[in-house]
Amino acid sequence: LAEPMSIDGVLLRSQVRQGVAVSVADSDGKRLLQRAHAALSRARADGEDLAVFDGASGVGEAAELGGWQLATELAPALERGEFELWYQPKLSLLDGSVSGAEALVRWNHPRLGLLGPNAFVPQAEQDGHVNALTWSVLNMALRRLSDWPDDLPVSGIAVNVSPLCLNETDFVARVLEAVSLWGVGHSRLTLEITESAVMRDTAASDRALRTLRDAGVSVSIDDFGTGFSSLGHFRHLPADELKIDRCFVSRLANDEGSRHIVGTVLHLSRCFGFRTVAEGIEDAVTLERLAEMGCDVGQGYHIARPMPVSQWLQWLRAHVASQAR
Ligand code: C2E
Ligand code: MG
Ligand code: MG
Repeated sequence: LAEPMSIDGVLLRSQVRQGVAVSVADSDGKRLLQRAHAALSRARADGEDLAVFDGASGVGEAAELGGWQLATELAPALERGEFELWYQPKLSLLDGSVSGAEALVRWNHPRLGLLGPNAFVPQAEQDGHVNALTWSVLNMALRRLSDWPDDLPVSGIAVNVSPLCLNETDFVARVLEAVSLWGVGHSRLTLEITESAVMRDTAASDRALRTLRDAGVSVSIDDFGTGFSSLGHFRHLPADELKIDRCFVSRLANDEGSRHIVGTVLHLSRCFGFRTVAEGIEDAVTLERLAEMGCDVGQGYHIARPMPVSQWLQWLRAHVASQAR
């Protein structure tokens, strides 16, 4: 397959990816194909030529195999309230204070257990269910924020918005409506949008994001560095914050190239007045390096893993107490 093919005089090269599943006692044909498909998705996501299905590899993985069915279950599940938000802190690298938290959706699936977003968001984006999910998540996050315990510092919440939502004509109006419905200050909400989404339909998304920013809502460009921003567009990005993608952050300590990329993004961000967030900090060395390099905010397993709301409030309380000491 690596050999180029000539079709009507045009030389074509193909790239092949493989998803492999091995037949085990419980597998019928359909299941086997689903697992191979899940492995293929994994290979694609990881940029590998080949991946082998491994049912034991963590939250949500098992659900990828049922991706197609899950999509049809999503709408009724929303009505039944099967989704919950987990929270992961965003920490100021300057003084260690909590600058907010990112709300990450989880599906408490009655058959499959707790599923992470990678198991159902991509499919929901393909068949249009993701908008309902996004609105539900936004409202859940704002409702939670509206009854924040009084003894905790006022903090903000970041919600991931699917690129498809940006195309809804009443997107801005619905966000602002939700914010005022829950009586939360506009400045406490950050919307995280992937870089590729902002680049896709620049004029329309620019307008929407600018209006929201004018109203006081923050906009964060998620997974920054993976979405082909042109440098020309960079300076006009309708954003307050850039979140440097995990793939650069995780290699920072050992890879000079990644260090240069992160350094350059930090420098550019400073020049153009963006706040910088590094996601996926998994060890102390990386955290220290980022602080030295002048990154504003950090997020990652080394600081805390995403956690259910009660645990998050406990974590926050303990963190505030330890800072006061
Ligand atoms: P994201 O917005 O880039 O979120 C960060 C993801 O990285 C989260 O995965 C988080 O658990 C994970 N993460 C955080 N720190 C570390 C670390 O130190 N190391 C590693 N390896 N991973 C870390 P999660 O919760 O599985 O979310 C995956 C993606 O799903 C998110 O990526 C986001 O794009 C999407 N997502 C999450 N919640 C929602 C939602 O409510 N709506 C939509 N449309 N998408 C969502
Ligand atoms: Mg995010
Ligand atoms: Mg991200």
